[in-house]
This record gives sequence, C-alpha cells and structure tokens, in this order.
Amino acid sequence: MNTPYPQLLAPLDLGFTRLANRVLMGSMHTGLEDGRRHFPAMAAYFAERARGGVGLMVTGGFAPNIEGWAKPFAGTLATSAAARRHRLVTDAVHAEGGKIALQILHTGRYGYHPLCVAPSRIKSPISPFAPRELPARGIERQIRAFVRCARLAREAGYDGVEVMGSEGYFINQFLVTHTNHRSDEWGGSYENRMRLPVEIVARVREAVGPDFIIIYRLSMLDLIPDGSSWPEAVALAKAVTQAGATIINTGIGWHEARVPTIATSVPRGAFAWVTRKMRAELRAAGIAIPLVTSNRINTPEVAEQLLADGCADMVSLARPLLADPQFVAKASAGRAEDINTCIACNQACLDHAFQNRLASCLVNPRAGHETVLLIRPAPKPRRYAVVGAGPAGLAASTTLAERGHDVHLYEAAGQIGGQFNMARKIPGKEEFSETLRYFARRLQATGVNLHLNTRVGADELIAGRFDGVILATGVTARDPRIPGQDGPNVLSYVDVLLHGRPVGERVAIVGAGGIGFDVAEFLVTPAGHSPALNLREWLAEWGVADPAEVRGGVVRPQPAPPARRVTLLQRKAGRPGKGLGKTTGWIHRAALQMKQVEMIGGVNYERITPEGLFVTYGEKREDGQLIECDTVVLCAGQEPRRDLQAPLAAAGVAVQLIGGAHEAAELDAKRAIDQGTRLAARL
Ligand code: FAD
Ligand code: NAP
Ligand code: SF4
Repeated sequence: MNTPYPQLLAPLDLGFTRLANRVLMGSMHTGLEDGRRHFPAMAAYFAERARGGVGLMVTGGFAPNIEGWAKPFAGTLATSAAARRHRLVTDAVHAEGGKIALQILHTGRYGYHPLCVAPSRIKSPISPFAPRELPARGIERQIRAFVRCARLAREAGYDGVEVMGSEGYFINQFLVTHTNHRSDEWGGSYENRMRLPVEIVARVREAVGPDFIIIYRLSMLDLIPDGSSWPEAVALAKAVTQAGATIINTGIGWHEARVPTIATSVPRGAFAWVTRKMRAELRAAGIAIPLVTSNRINTPEVAEQLLADGCADMVSLARPLLADPQFVAKASAGRAEDINTCIACNQACLDHAFQNRLASCLVNPRAGHETVLLIRPAPKPRRYAVVGAGPAGLAASTTLAERGHDVHLYEAAGQIGGQFNMARKIPGKEEFSETLRYFARRLQATGVNLHLNTRVGADELIAGRFDGVILATGVTARDPRIPGQDGPNVLSYVDVLLHGRPVGERVAIVGAGGIGFDVAEFLVTPAGHSPALNLREWLAEWGVADPAEVRGGVVRPQPAPPARRVTLLQRKAGRPGKGLGKTTGWIHRAALQMKQVEMIGGVNYERITPEGLFVTYGEKREDGQLIECDTVVLCAGQEPRRDLQAPLAAAGVAVQLIGGAHEAAELDAKRAIDQGTRLAARL
C-alpha cells in the first residue's frame, strides 16, 4: 500500500465480515441517545463519520433496562418499537458504506437514579444513590436484558454490539472485591465474579448467531485499589473469547479512579502498553482475537506507530472523530496535515455530557449539530474584514472564505493564534498547537487574505469599504489596581507566558481562574519540560504501575519536586478551582497539590512591596499576612478589547463582535470558535 499508514488503513477480516480499516470509533455519550427527537440528528452524526471512512463505529451507551440507566430516562433499547427508531441510524450509516455497533451500557451503582442495582449495596463516590443489591434472580433478569438488547440491536440493523464491561460499570462491579462482597455463585472466587460477563457474552452469542460482531470492552487496568489483578484480566479475556466475543476493546480506569486517563495532559497513547501486554498473553496462548487499544490516540502517526509496534489490531478513536469526521479519509488521501486534531480538552464533549447538554467539540462546533449548523456556499459573495486571528477570528474567517466570501484577516502579532499562543506553552497543553497548525492550513486552503504584523485601525477599515467588519480583537488583561503593582517584581501572565520574562523562586499568583492555574502549572515545572511528553515520568507522577505487579495498577504517586514555591490566591472565599472544567478541574487541583502549591481563598490584596504581597482576610481586614515572594504574577481576569467598534459604527460600517471582544466574562475558546463559526455560517 502506497501510504504512510499501511497498518492503519489495512482491512480487518472478521471471517463473516470485513472492516475497511483499523479505526474503531469508540463509544461516546453525546446526549443524542437520550430522547426520540434526537434520532435524525444521531443518524446525520454517524452518517457523516461513516462517509469519512471509519472502519467500525460504536454508538453511545444504551441501557438494556431501566435499572441500567445512566440517569432517569436515559436511552434504552428494550422493545421492538425502540428498535424500529434505530433503523434511521443504521440505514443512514449503511447508505454511506459504514458499519455500526450499538453499545449496551448498564451502569450499575454508577446510575444517577434511585432504581440502580449492583452486586452489593455499596454506594459509589460519583452518585448520591446507594444501589439495591441484586438477588440471584435479579442477576438473571439483568442477563436476559443484555441478551434482549443485543437481539433488538440486530433487529434494528446494527452490525454488532459492544458489551460495556469496563470503566467501573455494572459488569466491572461484579469482577472486583471493591464492589462485590457476595458469597453466592456470583461472588467470592474470581471464577464466580467473572461469571456475569462470560454468561452475558455466551448468551448474547447464542441469541444473535455467528455472523454478528460482539465487542467486549474489558477493563485491563482498573486504576483503583482492589481492582483486578493481571492474571484475572487475562483469564477474563480468554473466557469472553471462548464465550463468543469477536473483538476485545480496552478499558482503562474506573470513573472513580484518581488518575487522569484522557485529559490533554495525558501523554498520547499513554495506555497502549497495557493492550500490548494483553495481546502478547493471548497470542502466546494461541488466541488470535483482534484487540483494540484506546485513550489519547489523536493522529494517524500515533495510531500507525502503535499498530506497527504490535500494541493492538485496531485503534479506538472517539473524540478525534468528533473533532474531524474526515480523519480517516484525510489520512487515506495523504492529507493528514489537514486533520482538525482533538486537543483532549473535554470542554465541549465530556463536560457537556456531565452537564446534561448535547456533546459537541471545541474545535468543531458542527459535531452533534450536523443537521442545524450548515456551511453552505454564500448566495452572494461579499467582502469581509476580520480583525484578530485568535480562535474566534480564525473560525470566522475560514468559514466565511469556505463559503465563497472574499476575506481579509488582520492580526497585530507576527503569528496567528491569539491567546492560544500562551495556552500552548503550558506543560500538558502542547496539543493546543495542533489547532493553530490546522487553522494555518485552513487559511491557505480557503484562500483567506492574511495580514500579519498589521494592527489595523478604524480609518483603514472604513477606507477598505468592506461589506462587513468582524471584530475578533479579544481581550486585555484586567488591571487589579493593587497598590505597589508597578514595582519591578510584578508581572502579568502575558509577560510570563508570551514574553518569557524571568520569574523568581517564590511566586504569588493573584487570581485563581483558568489562567492562574495554568500559570502555576507553568511555574512549578522546570523550563522546557513537560511530563505530558514523557510517559515514564507521567506514569510515576500519577502512580500508575504495571498491573502484573500491583492489583489495579495503582501505587503512591511520585511527583517530581516543584521548580518554584507558588502561592495561588483569590478573593472569593472557598477553595480555588471550583470554576474549572467539570471533568478536568480535579486534575488541575490534584496536579498543583502534588507540586505543593498553596491555595488561599478569601483574601484582600492590600499592597505589593519588594518583600512580597500583603493580604488581609475577611471584611474587617484586620488579620494580615505577608506572602513573601520574589515575583507577583497578575492573573486577575480579562476585559473585552473593542475600541474599534464605536468609530466603525459611527461611520456606518456593519460591525459584529465575536469571542473576547464580544464578552470577556467566562470566555473560552469553545465559545470563541462556536460564535465565529455560527456568525460566518449566517452571513
Ligand atoms: P484572542 O485569542 O485574545 O485573540 C485576539 C487577537 O486579536 C489577538 O491575536 C490580537 O493580537 C488581535 N488583535 C487585537 N486588536 C487588533 C487589531 N486592532 N488589529 C489586528 N489584530 C488585533 N480557553 C479554552 O477554551 N481552554 C483552555 O484550556 C484555555 N487555556 C488558556 C490558557 C491560557 C494561558 C490563556 C491565556 C488562555 C486560555 N484559554 C483557554 C482562553 C482562550 O485562549 C481564549 O478564550 C481565546 O483565545 C479567545 O479567543 P479570541 O479570538 O476571542 O481572542
Ligand atoms: P477567570 O477565570 O475569570 O479568573 C479571573 C481570576 O481573577 C479569578 O480568580 C478572580 O477571582 C480574579 N479577579 C477578578 N477580578 C479581580 C480583581 N479586580 N482583582 C484581583 N483579582 C481579580 O479568568 P482567567 O483566569 O483570566 O481566564 C480567562 C478565560 O480563559 C476564562 O474564562 C477561562 O474559561 C479560560 N481558560 C480556560 C482554561 C481551561 O482549562 N478550560 C484555562 C485557562 C483559561 P476573585 O474575584 O475571587 O479574586
Ligand atoms: Fe477533543 Fe476537546 Fe473536541 Fe472533546 S471538545 S472532541 S476533547 S477537541
């Protein structure tokens, strides 16, 4: 094959059917599963990815019964009427030449509802509801529900099912003594504990016949104390193969694990070694079942390398296919540079899922909204000026140009990217560079006229006689007006991140928002270093061990010592970091705690002196404290930069504001890109 990705693009013969390549689109909860009205949108969403050439896709989880719900009224497949609705999805996928499996997800004690059930009555740390302990008859009912769901999936036209056996859900809960305290034939010995998944796979196979894909998602590394041992995981892989599974997919970490598994600070392909270890065990035993490796595989290069290294037979990409449905097609066409890479931020996908909002993607706002956010040729091409090449301006200008408009993009700096040029300097946020690489290609491909090093003024814009001007001029750092802040020991986050100004050994950070946390991370890490780029160090830092040596694969974290002594402050009472991302905030807090960053809330900033920052507490401002430090870094939020708006409007120019220029409060790149894209799709 004349391609840089011969392994990735090789077909996979499953005997009764053939997959076009080695890409499995892993299951993601998008919210489209919950509620009938979303089925047309779900059909369009999967059809677009099938058109993009994905070998096999897996839907978000569908519960096999009410007890298995993730939350009240979560998507369920338990009746023929429900199966008929799925035809819309399977027909749309098949019309594009794709293949799709339905994931059967029983959440057990993770269910966020009072009807949840589990092997034992042990409440999980992530749901307020204690589960009901199932009697033996109840277990039989759950197995029958799995079998019924698989049969209905076949009836609905799916090519297979994925039995969700990892991430700490129902099946996983039977496997380990952490959650299974039973003494009947479903508990006690490992043979008893693994009876449930083996029984489910065997009976599903019996019900669906030999020519239907059964993927078993197996937790190879639980990342919880009292998790499965390695011999147990291997025994289970052998048993589910024997019971009739077609493919084994890798699951890493329970949801309650305190180790990040997919965030942007996790090194690429960080857990492929686990699948590789399992594959070696199975091959040594003469078992040839295809294995899928997973987690933080976001480029064709990484995927190809993992396959070439013998880690797996397929790779699971989930979020990367939200970010770019054309991932496989672009790799096949030798256009990998054009891929819109998932930066693993979780901001529009996982965070939304946990907030009961439809999932989308920060770098691709069309994801999940394929039927409503349409990028169509403009009925009448016009001339537009876009001012500012940050995320908002980049999204707007490339979308306008894609639609056929004549677009001039002005950027004061010598490079595109705006604040992303600071974000990508943060250790663990290196992926943010990929978005700028992507937009640089899009600017070229769509023919945007880019004017770098051009701080454009109102007069030039008026003289340019544009049909419209879009201000994407971003923000300026807020001035916190602290007495003494003009001293040489005071810097702003821009000085530190963009201009590389030297910072002392002891640092106080004013403001504990997203940027305050990022600056703290930057300062506690030695210059030019990042654990996200060094797998061995990252695994030690988070306490991930070889599961063959320690049950569950977790040991005590061994963080490297901090490069500086940092104190992070905010005026609000309470623990800093509450407003950080829903699914990533805990990672930022834990990372800084490991680096001994002191976090203090409820302060008043009184003054800055050469000795440090003097703060008081409470309204009375009586008790005070000098936080001794060499440098104070200001991260006190941002204000919109929109000085061009008034003169343009006064001259009768049609002006629109997007991103930070529109609103700085709670601004992030998700909103900036979304707003830029949506405006440009309308004009
Ligand atoms: P900006 O990115 O501020 O871009 C505005 C651009 O306009 C600038 O390049 C500026 O030079 C240019 N400009 C201004 N005036 C003119 C003019 N007159 N002529 C020409 N050009 C002009 N967001 C997230 O979603 N997730 C994160 O994890 C994240 N991490 C971050 C980490 C750091 C350290 C920082 C600083 C920001 C982070 N952000 C993050 C925030 C995110 O970068 C911003 O929300 C986003 O960049 C805002 O986009 P924007 O296009 O509105 O403005
Ligand atoms: P932010 O999140 O609004 O935080 C601003 C901080 O400054 C807060 O701690 C605030 O807390 C403090 N502050 C506000 N006014 C102040 C004043 N007058 N004097 C002193 N302190 C003041 O803003 P940001 O940190 O600048 O981040 C900007 C945007 O980038 C955010 O909206 C964020 O979403 C985005 N971002 C996101 C991430 C991410 O990981 N998702 C990372 C970085 C940035 P008190 O008012 O309590 O003091
Ligand atoms: Fe990836 Fe972020 Fe998009 Fe989710 S929102 S798919 S993590 S880029």
